[in-house]
Formats: sequence, structure tokens, C-alpha cells
Amino acid sequence: MIDYKLHIPGPVDVSPQAYEAMSTRVMGHRSPDFVELYQSCQPQLQELFQTQDPVFLSTSSAWGVMEGAVRNLCAKKTLCCMCGAFSDKWLDVALRCGKEADGLEAEWGHHIDPQILDSKLATGEYDLVTLVHNETSCGMMNPLEDIMKVLAKYPDVISVIDTVSSFSVVPIPKDLWGIDVILTGSQKALALPPGLALLTVSERAFARAEKIDGRGYYFDFIEFLKNHEKGMTPSTPAIPQIHGLKYTLDKIFEEGVEARHNRHAKLNDMVHDWVEQKGFTLLPEKAFASKALTCVSNNLEMDVAGFVKALKNEKKLAIDGGYGKIKGKTFRISNMGNETEDTMTHLLQSMDEILPRFLPN
Ligand SMILES: *Cc1c(COP(=O)(O)O)cnc(C)c1O
Repeated sequence: MIDYKLHIPGPVDVSPQAYEAMSTRVMGHRSPDFVELYQSCQPQLQELFQTQDPVFLSTSSAWGVMEGAVRNLCAKKTLCCMCGAFSDKWLDVALRCGKEADGLEAEWGHHIDPQILDSKLATGEYDLVTLVHNETSCGMMNPLEDIMKVLAKYPDVISVIDTVSSFSVVPIPKDLWGIDVILTGSQKALALPPGLALLTVSERAFARAEKIDGRGYYFDFIEFLKNHEKGMTPSTPAIPQIHGLKYTLDKIFEEGVEARHNRHAKLNDMVHDWVEQKGFTLLPEKAFASKALTCVSNNLEMDVAGFVKALKNEKKLAIDGGYGKIKGKTFRISNMGNETEDTMTHLLQSMDEILPRFLPN
């Protein structure tokens, strides 16, 4: 029995209404009913992705399409911008796909420097760049607009941007900034259960993919496009997740996209204020701190594991005790999805109540 609420940076808490939408009776994925559902999501998805390009639904976690993007788009060599756990792993994934790939490394919590990226691309070695917009592992958001200005100088380099934990949190004008591929997942700010990845692909990227062997089947962008034109997915999709997505899209546009962004910014500020009041610091550089979650440095030498456990057992709230090599040295609090001032106030007050027990005497 799960009797606690998630405030970890993914998966995040799912509303009873979204669960209810997901319990709609399943239909055939080649039926007119499915086509109607699929096509009804498109205009809202294109608006949310700020693009004219098609938006595909992949029954996989985000990593499926992160790997797929490399297999579809790298002919020469991939440059993986690395600044945290997810972006570091993308290099490993590219290499496992048998691609040539290098890393451009920044320290965890530091942003990718557009000038260094520029000098790397000037070598002419690369035809694909992978970038994680919001590094969830360290709560750092990269300066995407400035990075895209650099990429604009290199028309032969395709850009793949992971917005798994920033999508629908901050505006990301895909077409305006010239991003080729944006991908995200259902279980972060969209506040749906895991199981669906969403991605949008530019014409330039399709043209590249067409010429590449070894794209496979399940994540083949051309296969997605062919089916998309019929209002379908290549294979049987997670239909309940798509019902949940339709419900969520309606909710997002009911609230208003800008209001949603503002809500996330405000709730994130509340957490930052708490961090400062308690005498903690942020792990990322302050100017590049994420709006979706907060990664707190454990400068007060709190017993992170004990704190996280007590918060869950006594207050029925789950936060995260740090990812990978910064486990225990940091902890993370999500404000993504359906959170409100009330739910965040409740979380911060609950943390206040137990905090003194876990600080050194
Ligand atoms: C959660 C996350 C992923 C991985 O998503 P999966 O759905 O587990 O594949 C990738 N990138 C970022 C930035 C994430 O936050």
C-alpha cells in the first residue's frame, strides 16, 4: 500500500482525475476511435512544443527515444554535452549503439558553456549534439537559447534536446530557436504515470534519418512519421497513457500555459526561500537553478537518509536523498506537475517539523 505522496523529481504525483481518465475502456489501435484520440492531442501538443513539426508518442520511457535519436541521426560523430547523471549516461548510450561519440564535460551543477561548445563544433567532427536542458540529477537548467544560437552556426549539426524535466515548466520555443528534436517523458512535469515518451522531429532531422542505416524498427523516426500521417503509432501504444495525456492537455490549456509556467516559478521560489532560511545552499550555480526541482547541497551535514525516511514514514511525503555520486551530499525536492501553494507549504512545514532531529548537535 502506497500511503505517501511523491515529491521526488520523477515520477511525480498523479491526480485521481488523471488515473480516472486512464481507466477509459481500451480500443483497437487501428480503429477510428484511436485515430480520433491521437489526432485530438496533436494541436495541443504542437502548441505546447511550440512547433509545426509532428509530435510522436512512443510507448517507452524517455531513454527509448534518447537512444533512438542517436541511432536515427548520427552518421559521423555525436557530441554529448555532459553535466550530470542523465547527460553523462547519454555518452555511454551512444557508444553502446556503436556510434562514435565524445563528451563535452562540465562539473555537476555547472552549465554547458556555449563558447566551449562553439569551439568543439568548429572542428567539424560532429554531426549530432545531445543536450539535457534540465539536469534533474543536480537541479541545473542549461542556457538553451544561447546554446541554440551556437548551433545555428552549424547547419549540418542536428540538435537533440532532452526536456524530460523542463517540458511545460518553462517556455521552450522549438521552432523559433531552431531545435531539431525535443523529447520528454510522461512521468515528470506532465504528472502522468511512466510509460510514454513524447518527441518532435524537424524536417532536417527526417532528411538525415532517411539516409542512415541501422535505425532499427521500434524507434525509427521514419516509421513514426508514416504512421503519424494516418493518426497512428508504429506498434500498439500504451492507450491508457494517451487517454491520460488527453486529459492532462485539456487541464494545461484550461489553466493556461503561461499561468502554468508562472505557477512552477513561484513554487520553486518557495523552496529556494526555505533553503536559504535554513542555511542550506543550492548545488547548482544560482543563475542556472532549475524551476522544476531544487537540488539542495547538504552543507549543514544533515543526516539525509534519516530525514528522507522520517519524512516518508511520519509525514507521508517522499523527497529524494540525492542521485548517484551526490547521494547524501544533496537532496532533491520536486515542484513539478500539479503542485500548488498549499501542497508546497504543507511539504515545507512538514520538513521544518522534523529537520532539527537530523542536524548535527
Ligand atoms: C527522468 C529523466 C530521464 C529518464 O527518463 P526515463 O523515463 O526513466 O527513461 C532522462 N533525462 C532526464 C533529464 C530526466 O529527468
